[in-house]
Amino acid sequence: MDFQTLPTGPVTLQNLTVPACLMGQSGDLIRIDLNIADGHLTDQPGQGVDMRGAMVFPAFIDMHTHLDKGHIWARAPNPDGTFQGALDTVRADSAANWSADDVRQRMEFSLRCAYAHGTRAIRTHLDSIPPQDDISWPLFKDIRTEWAGRIDLQAVCLIGCDRMNDRFVHTADLVADAGGVLGMVTYPLPDLKDRLLGFFKLAEARGLAADFHVDETLDPASETLRLIAETVLETGFSAPVTVGHLCSLSTQDEARALDTLDLVAKAGLNVVSLPMCNLYLQDRGPSTPRFRGITLVHEMKARGIPVSFASDNTRDPFYAYGDMDMLEVMREATRIGHLDHAGTDWTHAFLTNPARACGFDQPSLTHGAPADLVICKARSWTELFARPQSDRIVLRQGRQIDRTLPDYADLDDLMRTP
Ligand SMILES: [Zn+2]
Repeated sequence: MDFQTLPTGPVTLQNLTVPACLMGQSGDLIRIDLNIADGHLTDQPGQGVDMRGAMVFPAFIDMHTHLDKGHIWARAPNPDGTFQGALDTVRADSAANWSADDVRQRMEFSLRCAYAHGTRAIRTHLDSIPPQDDISWPLFKDIRTEWAGRIDLQAVCLIGCDRMNDRFVHTADLVADAGGVLGMVTYPLPDLKDRLLGFFKLAEARGLAADFHVDETLDPASETLRLIAETVLETGFSAPVTVGHLCSLSTQDEARALDTLDLVAKAGLNVVSLPMCNLYLQDRGPSTPRFRGITLVHEMKARGIPVSFASDNTRDPFYAYGDMDMLEVMREATRIGHLDHAGTDWTHAFLTNPARACGFDQPSLTHGAPADLVICKARSWTELFARPQSDRIVLRQGRQIDRTLPDYADLDDLMRTP
């Protein structure tokens, strides 16, 4: 069989390799057959195709991205690779260039990449400093409708907690109108507790889930995660809460960091780690980086905290690279976080956990589930992670999709600054 072409019509993909945890079993990799008919997995066998041990995953969920920032690098490069350099550069670019048309074209580029790589659901943050919120949120609603059936989309408002003022009520209304998630970047301000109480009050009143950018710094004194966990426990805020980054845990006193994680577990927070972006921004300076910014994912998992990994930024000042490819995220997270000698169920961090944290449909390989699959020419983890899997097959509703990636030249008109 040519790996690149599967027959259409009812088919049985024989001899696939899958992580046992995705089938609710213990152990590492197991072999399975999957029957596909009418776009779904079924118990009725079809035309048999020997897949010769190819690894299969349900289509991926990317739960922390920035589609509105993506691909501005050519006109807005980070001057020095630092977090502050990224923040200042994005602010200047958004003020100058982020019309609805500009944001739309870049978002569509990223969505085309994600779709081609085998992603079926994405949560994106949207910069919501006024007046950008009035531009990006209506646009997001249109794009979500246009992409329905290909990629399920959710959005979160993104604004620094220092900018949270009376106007934020309007942003929260835009978020509620779009069925979005209330988000904020937490910095260790003296009055952060009051700001968090106000934030949760706004979210509660509108029935919104919460998603924070938290402690994206190696300064051990940045402990806003602890305050979020305490505030959730104190207020009894019951909608799902997600916290991303948490880099400062990696430089804090061990006992203190673990004590904070006990609170995070108790508060039921979902964690998302963004290791590629952390690797790029953290410990950036003239000398060789010593600290790599990844949060304490093993210690979290040991406490039952649901940990996920996601793309974060793509080709913007916060991360110069990236292609909305969850297999790249899986490969890099495994290498950076040493997931490969730490149990056999880390696959949940790229599928099950993000789906549950965001409320997307659960990934499934059981009968009746949509045949949305990523199939790789690799039979084991070492074969999977040794190559970028550029020749993977992606099936959506049982049909093999065209995996051609968009051409960077499509963005050239947007990159010309007057
Ligand atoms: Zn982010």
